[in-house]
Amino acid sequence: MPEEVRLIAVSKTKPVEAITAAYETGQRVFGENRPQEMAAKYRELPKDIEWHMIGQLQEKNVKYIIAFVRLIHSVDSLKLLQKIDREAQKCDRVVDCLLEFHIAREETKSGLTLAEAEEILESEEWKALQHVRITGVMGIATYTDDREQIRREFARLHEIFDVLKSKYFARADYFRELSMGMSEDYRIAVEEGSTMVRVGSSIFGAREYKKS
Ligand SMILES: *Cc1c(COP(=O)(O)O)cnc(C)c1O
Repeated sequence: MPEEVRLIAVSKTKPVEAITAAYETGQRVFGENRPQEMAAKYRELPKDIEWHMIGQLQEKNVKYIIAFVRLIHSVDSLKLLQKIDREAQKCDRVVDCLLEFHIAREETKSGLTLAEAEEILESEEWKALQHVRITGVMGIATYTDDREQIRREFARLHEIFDVLKSKYFARADYFRELSMGMSEDYRIAVEEGSTMVRVGSSIFGAREYKKS
């Protein structure tokens, strides 16, 4: 992988022993999608781990992670940004976030359209926030064998990044992240300019979800 691409090891559902094993090989950045699970792992594991929230985040759960989370990949509304800002203010932090975009064909996937993101970035409410910083964009491609479809979706996310960069973040060096690529498609994502890949099952093996 090119050196400028960071690997987020997605450890959701995996026990602390599995994370410790990866830590011992030098991995320091881990991604989780459930706030309480992430907070429990944070408490148990070494404090030089960078924790990234990659899953949908409900406002009421922001409080569990706000004191330590390094990057929230999945911001998809102004209301969530405002909530993160309020909680971050309480712990005197500025928390880095990515805007999540809907680039897949599947309707079920979450994320903003470019128009929705622009509405947020042009609003007075956004301009008033002082405890969040948007450092880039994130997207999840369609789950498909059609490699060209996946490539088009990542290329589209890169285009969105470029539009936002030039219109709203031209002078902001920190706006530089393109979080795209998972186990099945990270090679395409890197070819399309990814700066962060979120890889779970290729590192930790398949996830087993408990039936509830
Ligand atoms: C689970 C998950 C990943 C990792 O998926 P793998 O296919 O196991 O690599 C990446 N990104 C998000 C948002 C996820 O929820």
